[in-house]
Amino acid sequence: MAYSYDPENIFAKILRGEIPNNTVLETEHTLAFRDIAPQAPEHVLVIPKGAYVCYDHFALEASEAEIVDYTRTIGQICKMLDIQPGEGGAGYRLISNAGQDGVQEVPHLHVHILGGRGLGRMLARA
Ligand code: 5GP
Repeated sequence: MAYSYDPENIFAKILRGEIPNNTVLETEHTLAFRDIAPQAPEHVLVIPKGAYVCYDHFALEASEAEIVDYTRTIGQICKMLDIQPGEGGAGYRLISNAGQDGVQEVPHLHVHILGGRGLGRMLARA
């Protein structure tokens, strides 16, 4: 499938510096910043700098350098936030919503890192 990327989405504007953000970590290929409407004491969004709509788009089309950088950045942030289970932290949840069924609001790949409180079951029972 060929994804079409909307360069006017809010995270593209953040990447271009048109909208401010509360940066947690920036690397060559990745930006991580605090969610504007946090749903847990720790709520960080991690986005690739490249124009990828959602996770499968990135996983299938990004370069190995981008994928390694992105994945390592997520690990680094878990460490920075002190939420690694087994390392003194109490754990976390990663979420990446995609498309209509995933209720994705911003069409630029982002992984939510949530932690700092018990997060309940993964999904509400339908
Ligand atoms: P989605 O529903 O697409 O997985 O999540 C989008 C997330 O982006 C939401 O948690 C929302 O609070 C966050 N968000 C939307 N606009 C902005 C913004 O301008 N700045 C920041 N930091 N987060 C935003």
